[in-house]
Amino acid sequence: MESYNFVVTSSPSLADKIHAEVSARSASAEAAFRILDARIVACELCPRLRAYCAEIARVRRRAYADWEYWGKPVPSFGDPNARVLALGLAPGAHGSNRTGRPFTGDGSGNFLYPVLYATGFASQPLASTREDGMVLHNLRITSVIRCAPPGNKPLPSEINNCAPFVDEEIALLQDLRVVVCLGKIAFDGYVAHALRTGKTSSRKGLVFRHGAEYAIPNGPHILATYHPSLQNTNTGLLTRAMFQSIFERARALAGLSSSSPAN
Ligand code: SF4
Repeated sequence: MESYNFVVTSSPSLADKIHAEVSARSASAEAAFRILDARIVACELCPRLRAYCAEIARVRRRAYADWEYWGKPVPSFGDPNARVLALGLAPGAHGSNRTGRPFTGDGSGNFLYPVLYATGFASQPLASTREDGMVLHNLRITSVIRCAPPGNKPLPSEINNCAPFVDEEIALLQDLRVVVCLGKIAFDGYVAHALRTGKTSSRKGLVFRHGAEYAIPNGPHILATYHPSLQNTNTGLLTRAMFQSIFERARALAGLSSSSPAN
């Protein structure tokens, strides 16, 4: 009796192909961000800001006397394939200028990250250091300038100096659908970016107010919120419920399923 040996060859399924494509895209996006981050960290374009950050890192706050402050420009943080970008103003002098990660280690971050956790963007509610295990899903955090400014007030020339980094970062986020602007300076910074890059031809009608939402012709949706600074949160100008509803709305606009804590 003749016997036959069958060799079963399995071709990759559609799911396998999609998974491989997504993994390759993630790897290349991560590599591109790593190169951009290295340039940001090495930037010395604003002497006033570099001197201020170095001095803060040298003197330190008494509560952080044991810390070795980051003291350099702060790169962005989060998912390289994010659909939502949270755009802040600048690193905090004793927050991210100390820890090296946006909104990590200060009162603003202690307000922001629990909301990101509750709305499914963050893996944990507390952010303390760059090594705390935090992972962001579908969200990236950056700011209009990467060096802490004295009094939280950057000069227009300093915002201009840092603008190319904002442009490059946004160009790398190929599936970006929503930009959440944290405060008026971030909102103005994003509108300036939209004008520079042709996402809109006019800033007419683009007015900052908490909860404002704009669809612009060639760019992602804009959502505006008060900045989660202690000044705003301690006075009740920005409450947890107000802030959470902004990020829930961001999920909906980005086509993400409704919020649940991320893993
Ligand atoms: S604010 Fe931006 S442009 Fe200015 S020194 Fe820092 S990283 Fe460079």
